Amino acid sequence: MNSPERAAIIDASAIAHNVRTIAEFVRPAKVLAAVKADGYGHGLVPAARAALAGGADWLGTAHITEALQLREAGIDAPLLAWLHTRDSDFAAGIEAHIDLGTSGWDLDQVAAAAEALHEPARVHLKVDTGLGRNGAAMTDWPGLVQRAAEFQNQGLISVEGVFTHMAVADEPDRKETDEQLAAFGEALAAAEAGGVVPDLRHAANTPAALSRPDAHFDMVRVGVGIYGQSPFADRPAASLGLRPAMELRTTVANVKRVPAGHGISYGLTHRVEAPTHLGLIPLGYADGIPRNAVGAPVLIRGRRYHSAGRVAMDQFVVDLGEHTDVQVGDEVTIFGGDSGIEAADWGAAAGTINYEIITRIGARVPRTVVNQEPAE
Ligand SMILES: *Cc1c(COP(=O)(O)O)cnc(C)c1O
Repeated sequence: MNSPERAAIIDASAIAHNVRTIAEFVRPAKVLAAVKADGYGHGLVPAARAALAGGADWLGTAHITEALQLREAGIDAPLLAWLHTRDSDFAAGIEAHIDLGTSGWDLDQVAAAAEALHEPARVHLKVDTGLGRNGAAMTDWPGLVQRAAEFQNQGLISVEGVFTHMAVADEPDRKETDEQLAAFGEALAAAEAGGVVPDLRHAANTPAALSRPDAHFDMVRVGVGIYGQSPFADRPAASLGLRPAMELRTTVANVKRVPAGHGISYGLTHRVEAPTHLGLIPLGYADGIPRNAVGAPVLIRGRRYHSAGRVAMDQFVVDLGEHTDVQVGDEVTIFGGDSGIEAADWGAAAGTINYEIITRIGARVPRTVVNQEPAE
């Protein structure tokens, strides 16, 4: 491939491979591939198609609008959307056969929309077993179940699922996961006692899918893992059998020699100790490179160099050393591909996580999808 000025190369076959790998691990549980947030930065529709090619049973988004975009692209797989506001278009979701996660007030709006449409809504009731975000509080759960049972008896909704979300599954030794699973068991029992018996019980995100078989239930909801990223701080993706699906690339925009003591970038937070060459990398925080990343790795001509000084809006600088063969126009891999550099390395350099690094890559970086497989 020619070197594009800047590109996020999206390897669709890696996403399909990662879905297959996780699906084998969690079988017989089903796999919902989370493609919210533009497929974690990989592109909503390409990520969805690749996940389906890899055998994903369901696709999940936060917003109904994201799920509607999938329908508009002709994707007819089961879809679940779970984060709503007063202004969410529940009617559009119902008409597009999108399952709706509901946590409380939204159930009433969903039922009202179903009544107006004369079409029952497919609902997954969400319980908060400890994360403290959405989901009904345990004390409100019996009331939500009761309302759901009434709406179901009126033919306004059908409860397809009951679900919850994990807070600390990326740290497998923490006892709060046990507590959340125990609470989920209680919530399922209360639902059953209230006459709500869903086909799909689901709780696990990627870390729980990979570390807690007792959290698999009928389906797992996996995001970061399908993009080939490890959810664990101490386990590289390759050790989990996962392949990174995004390679971020550009080319060297400038190389110049500077004397000892020369400063680098705004604030002059870094000065070189000895004469050296500075390489200019034409990606900055407008492209999603974190401004506070320090000493972050890049690969040029098979060698690792590190960022020096502050990342600016459009560019950052790497120290190439006193003697260098790096030239203007050389390819640079920021992370992914065969570079051996993981998005998690940039996360570590910037005080954040791989999830944020891949998701924040900006709209100014064109996505190029390679290795697309036909749907299964
Ligand atoms: C984003 C999300 C997931 C996927 O989480 P990963 O850690 O990326 O696997 C699962 N469930 C819900 C409710 C989510 O919001």
